[in-house]
This record gives sequence, C-alpha cells and structure tokens, in this order.
Amino acid sequence: MSDSSTIAEQPVQLALIGFRYDENSSFMKGAADAPPQIRAAFRSEAANFFTENGTDLENVFFDAGDIEPLPGTEMFSLIESSVLTLLNDNLTPISLGGDHSITYPIVRAFAKKFPRLSILHFDAHPDLYDVFQGSRYSHACPFARIMEERLVNRLVQVGIRTATAHQRVQGNRFGVEWVEMRHWRDNLQIEFDSPVYISFDIDALDPAFAPGVSHREPGGLSTRQAVDLIQRIKGRVVGADIVEFNPRMDPVQMTGTVCAKLLKEMAARILGD
Ligand code: MN
Ligand code: MN
Repeated sequence: MSDSSTIAEQPVQLALIGFRYDENSSFMKGAADAPPQIRAAFRSEAANFFTENGTDLENVFFDAGDIEPLPGTEMFSLIESSVLTLLNDNLTPISLGGDHSITYPIVRAFAKKFPRLSILHFDAHPDLYDVFQGSRYSHACPFARIMEERLVNRLVQVGIRTATAHQRVQGNRFGVEWVEMRHWRDNLQIEFDSPVYISFDIDALDPAFAPGVSHREPGGLSTRQAVDLIQRIKGRVVGADIVEFNPRMDPVQMTGTVCAKLLKEMAARILGD
C-alpha cells in the first residue's frame, strides 16, 4: 500500500481491495478469480467512469490490490487487518470477493470504527447457519458469527428465497430483518439511523441477469431493482463488499459487468452521503 503522504496528494477517498479467497465455499470453487475480472470490467473502455447521478469515479479510488490467500484462520486475521489499515488511513474500502465468508472479518474491522453499524445484505441465502458441513466459517455462516459477536446494530437481508427451518430460527434469535423475495415490492423503502455497510452477494440477483455464481437461485432481483434500492435507501453508506461472483460459471462474461455496475452505484452512495 502507498504511504499516507501519497494518498493525501490525490483526491482519493475510496479504496478497492480484492480478496482472492474461496476456501470457505461449500459447493464450488471459483470466486477467488473474481477481483481482477471486476476491476477489468470497471476499467473497460466499453463504459465510462460516471455513475447514474453524474459522479465521476475515475480518480477517487486508491487500489490496494489483491490479497492472496493464507491457510486456515490466518486469512481472516489478514482480511481484518487489511481493511482496518485502509479505514485508519481515512479511506472507505469497497471489498471484492471471494466467497461470502470474508464479510465476517471485514465487518469486524468496520465495527472497530463504527460502533453502531447497520448492514444491508443482498443475498438469495440468509448465510445464518450455526455450522455448515462441519465449519463455523463456511460462506453459509458469516452473519451468524457477526450477530453472535454483536458487531452490528441492525441486519437487514434482502432477496432471501432459500431459508431453511434452521435459518428461520437463527434469524428470529438474532432479530434479523428479512425482505424475502416473495414479499418484494418495487417501492420498498428502508431507512437507517446508523452508518450502513452494504454486503452484496451476487446470487441475490436472478441468474438471468448474473449467471456467474456458484449457487444459482431463480426468482431473484433484477439488476435494476437492486440498483434502485441502493439509490433509494435512506442512510449514510460507509462501506461495501461484492462477493460470490464465480467467473467459471459466467459463459457469456456478463456478470463481471454487473459487479462493476453495482460497484459504481455503491461508490456513488458513499461519496454522495
Ligand atoms: Mn451469501
Ligand atoms: Mn448467496
């Protein structure tokens, strides 16, 4: 990473950091390959750097590069310390996954800076398993760990359409707020009175829009519906991640472009609040 004097000379406010890590994927590897593809889509000459509300993103990112995987729980310590370093440099990190297990150490870092953090979590899955396939750190478990440690004030999950009986019990136990996909309406409004972190699992979207995921679950959000909600929520957005893009499942190379679109619109919210 650059030293702080270099950062101070440039108009950067946001940081991009990639985690090439999919060791906690339960079904299929491949999400580790996502960060370079999302960056390539974001910087592609097929598009420009302007968001829908006219924010120019060309020079606002400090790119912290990709963090290569370490074995076992060492990786979670590395993720947490990497994100905390960026936060302590007064940058706002947007993290590129990797599987969804990375959100637990990322939120541990954010909770140190934001004691009353809320999370807006887009996903087909609640990711609230106590244990999954023998692991408490599976990508099916991060929000159980986050809620057990009381790292956040509030967790709102949007796009849910796979909840098991166990996950419903867990959701009630932790006081998680659900917008299940079967209850979706286009004028949905969510208001937050504390800083908001957005965790975006790409499988929240319908696989028609974003086929490049390990767990395709039909009946999801359109890209437009997700972008609209990101633009519409009331609250101050202070960080985000984009996880679970699996380039191996992306035959027409569409999903990286969808990730880049979400990256842009989330960055616009962070800069605009
Ligand atoms: Mn997930
Ligand atoms: Mn998911």
